[in-house]
Amino acid sequence: MGHSESELLDVASIREDFPILQREFGGQQVVYLDNAATTQTPEPIVETIADYYRTTNANVHRGLHQLSQEASIAYEDAHDRVAEFIGASGEREEIVFTKNTTESMNVVAYAWGLNELGPEDEIVLTEMEHHASLVTWQQIAKKTGATCRYIRTAEDGTLDMDHARELITDDTAMVSVVHVSNTLGTVNPVSQLADIAHDHGAYIFVDGAQSVPNRPVDVEAIDADFFAFSGHKMCGPTGIGVLYGKKHLLEEMEPYLYGGMMIKKVTFEDSKWNDLPWKFEAGTPVICQGIALAAACDYLDDIGMERIERHEQRLADYAMERLTEQEDVEVYGPPAGHERGGLVSFNLDTVHAHDLSSILNDSAVAIRAGDHCTQPLHDTLGVAASARASFYIYNTREEIDKLVEAVDDARQLFA
Ligand code: PMP
Repeated sequence: MGHSESELLDVASIREDFPILQREFGGQQVVYLDNAATTQTPEPIVETIADYYRTTNANVHRGLHQLSQEASIAYEDAHDRVAEFIGASGEREEIVFTKNTTESMNVVAYAWGLNELGPEDEIVLTEMEHHASLVTWQQIAKKTGATCRYIRTAEDGTLDMDHARELITDDTAMVSVVHVSNTLGTVNPVSQLADIAHDHGAYIFVDGAQSVPNRPVDVEAIDADFFAFSGHKMCGPTGIGVLYGKKHLLEEMEPYLYGGMMIKKVTFEDSKWNDLPWKFEAGTPVICQGIALAAACDYLDDIGMERIERHEQRLADYAMERLTEQEDVEVYGPPAGHERGGLVSFNLDTVHAHDLSSILNDSAVAIRAGDHCTQPLHDTLGVAASARASFYIYNTREEIDKLVEAVDDARQLFA
């Protein structure tokens, strides 16, 4: 392991929690650099999942039997744990468990947007939005007659804040921004954007899919009205996402899905909604996933979110240094030395990103190639696709060296 990592994180012992990192392809140990897509799941979380099914599995409709009581308590408490992890003082009432970030976005788009937006309203997004936000608001705009506007990305890969101030006006009803761009790595000034939005009477939705797993996040310090992220990018299982909403907003909002669990009283004529957050969790919810996500919060807090952030920043700095020293490599996003999330997207002059990724796969280096669900952003970059290496708690400088070696191999193959 690299010495620089060991000052911050005990990467060697962290890696022991991830047996998947020992897998070999063609005799070479996997170098997993696709963490922005999904992180690996450590043993304590795998154990939590197995243990839940071995010992506690039951439905959580507060059945009167012991198993249901235990499952219900663990599931409900998981909301409080997640609230604590992101600084939501309203605890479980402000935390809705969903399937993923995308669904969290759709809950607000449908339950709030469809009811509140009209032809006079504007939704302000950034050019860096993930399709989860961009496509969702675009379609809600079509249904309601509202207009989407996009804050430009400046030359240096940061958000053009002058343009943000220009676009966010009294006509703005919602500002929906990605906290950390999953393509550029840009860390957006979300609390500043929240102030601007609030000055104009607009709400702000922050897409935290690439921030909550990688840095300390306090939704109240940001003053986000809504905030979303996914469990599978932070050592948790797939199938769980989180929607944070300020309590009074969630209270005012209509439900998104109807059915069991989300009601308090039903007659043949009408129904009354359950308390928060259950009003937004129709049907049998993501019980095991929720409990496992709470365990993932414990796991990450034990390592320390500040340390995780610095570890990733160092790895990103090193990857930037190694990649930018090569003349035929174009790196996107903020320049070296600038704050960025733990990821680097790039292109090699002569090799398509998809080819690059499959050549890297021959060296057991797993990266992402494609548009990373940011097609319009790629249009602004003038490319259809890019390669993306993204880092997490178990990655090392040596793995970045392997990435760079594999890029060298690709260059030679296509020379
Ligand atoms: N937003 C961002 C910034 C993301 O990186 C992702 C995942 N690539 C999403 C939203 C969507 O997350 P999910 O697929 O878990 O809904």
